Amino acid sequence: MNFHIMTLFPEMVMSGLSESIIGRAVRNGLLSIEAVNIRDFADNKHNKVDDYTYGGGAGMLMQAEPVYRCYEDIVGRLGRKSVRVVYLTPQGRIFDQKTAEEFAKEEDLILLCGHYEGIDERVLEEIVTDNISVGDYVLTGGELPAMIVVDAVSRLVPGVLHNDDSSEYESFSDGLLEYPQYSRPEVWHDKRVPEILLSGDHAKVDSWRHEQSLIRTRKRRPDLYEKYLQ
Ligand code: SAM
Repeated sequence: MNFHIMTLFPEMVMSGLSESIIGRAVRNGLLSIEAVNIRDFADNKHNKVDDYTYGGGAGMLMQAEPVYRCYEDIVGRLGRKSVRVVYLTPQGRIFDQKTAEEFAKEEDLILLCGHYEGIDERVLEEIVTDNISVGDYVLTGGELPAMIVVDAVSRLVPGVLHNDDSSEYESFSDGLLEYPQYSRPEVWHDKRVPEILLSGDHAKVDSWRHEQSLIRTRKRRPDLYEKYLQ
């Protein structure tokens, strides 16, 4: 799968995505990630890409043309027009595991990061297919949200997770949070690993885990629990 990130801060994005599991997947050729600098598509010698907003108000807005040219450059290199363009914005639908699964089916995904006050509405109307938010709070830029999307989507691409990174069962995979987990030693700070996990009885372990998932979800995410019961 190929990610194309449109940003004013390419180093920020690339440094965050070059480590650990995602970095390894890129090195193994399972993923490609490019950060394209929108500033390279400015039409002035100072590479300025923002300006005041019409109608007044504090803050600068990213202009339409450099964003559009950057988009055209990516789409032109891909040689096809129908690429999904995700604008990271606090005004989008909240990103969740289901959306990550949906994005993981794409071969290419363009992620557009805003900065300052955001981006001129006219270019958004022309190129954006999905408005995605990472939560009901406002960040300084779309770079961290883009990295979240790349990370969550990438781990669903076959081969990205090795057996020792992955879990057959994970939070949200069946609408519940994951059960508590333990590793060695058996006793730590006088706390024992639950006896059932040492029993070797897989059926009992599974049933204990399911019960713990239910308890945990009801306590921590009553909204999810209600949905699960429906
Ligand atoms: N003026 C905009 C508004 O009120 O909707 C907020 C602009 S924000 C300061 C700058 C950029 O950060 C946005 O264009 C967007 O790309 C990104 N951003 C901020 N919060 C975000 C969130 N919760 N989810 C996704 N992107 C976000």
